[in-house]
Amino acid sequence: MSDTRTSRQVNLAARPNGAPVPSDFEIVEVDVPAPADGEVVVKNTFMSVDPYMRGRMNDVKSYVPPFQIGEALAGGAVGEVIESNSPDLAVGDHVVHGLGWREVAVVPANQTQPASAIDGVSLSANLGVLGMPGLTAYAGLLEVASFGEGDAVFVSGAAGAVGSVVGQIAKLKGASRVIGSAGSDDKVTFLSDQLGFDAAFNYKSGPVTKQLLGAAPDGIDVYFDNVGGDHLQAALHALKVHGRVALCGAISVYNNTEPAPGPNNLTLAIGKQLTLRGFIVSDFGSMRDQFVTEVGGWLADGSLRNDETIVDGIENAGEAFIGLLAGANTGKMVVSI
Ligand code: NDP
Repeated sequence: MSDTRTSRQVNLAARPNGAPVPSDFEIVEVDVPAPADGEVVVKNTFMSVDPYMRGRMNDVKSYVPPFQIGEALAGGAVGEVIESNSPDLAVGDHVVHGLGWREVAVVPANQTQPASAIDGVSLSANLGVLGMPGLTAYAGLLEVASFGEGDAVFVSGAAGAVGSVVGQIAKLKGASRVIGSAGSDDKVTFLSDQLGFDAAFNYKSGPVTKQLLGAAPDGIDVYFDNVGGDHLQAALHALKVHGRVALCGAISVYNNTEPAPGPNNLTLAIGKQLTLRGFIVSDFGSMRDQFVTEVGGWLADGSLRNDETIVDGIENAGEAFIGLLAGANTGKMVVSI
């Protein structure tokens, strides 16, 4: 029966030069092969668009191999098993896996994870607050930046998937002050009014250093960097002695065609005895159970919010990705299929 099944998928049509454009993506219809031994067929219900995919669209060596032109893109997805050739999964099971950007995926059962289900919370949360971005926030704040109660925390990209969870966890764990930056006045209002940030500013409204020092007159202990560039430079100014920086992402340079200059004040890290630590979430799988228990508990009792921007239709996935890099999302950007 599977050999008559077809699926639309999104191929990489061209490598973006700078910011991606719609013609870099192409929708094609393909036949879905029958699942081999140990494989399942999953009908995807939501797929994730994530900033790191921008790097994979370049033909360069990185910690993940580049996407290939003419082939389907890939990324996180959650869906329902509709055919199983594995004793471990049954039709009707909901799973999380890495073959998004297509309607139907054939996946080895051992490369899926059970989707977490919480009453009143959409399954798409498995791609955001309960998934990879959530774990990035949790591990990055608590482990990489060694957050402790009473710390003053600054997070950039604060209204996005990772940043919004960083700020909420910092508040829940007793931060003395949580400051966020984002790219619109609406997002700043969202941070202050909905997420309970103590201060927030629009980085497009003025110099980041000036705005950060105004929002954190006593300095910061932790900077969670999603943006790089002038945000990192500003944080180096505002950090106190023994401050810590979790280098999570540098979205301000992802579309650059030439290398960006580094912060001009890195030597502050010496006198202030700062720790700057880069990390990749896949190194923190051992924290996953603890993360799901703690963050799942906060979601279930309503102390942590799940915010998402949902784009309808796989045919709009390219636009969703373009929008993600341009700030069209509040919370996690997902595509419903
Ligand atoms: P977001 O949901 O935060 O979406 C991206 C956001 O980046 C946009 O909404 C936009 O918001 C902001 N942005 C775009 N361009 C700029 C710019 N020039 N300056 C400042 N902000 C900009 O994405 P994620 O939460 O998924 O990812 C956040 C960061 O974390 C990224 O850098 C990503 O690569 C990184 N990451 C790292 C991981 C790791 O393992 N190290 C894992 C997952 C994510 P705005 O309107 O505010 O500009």
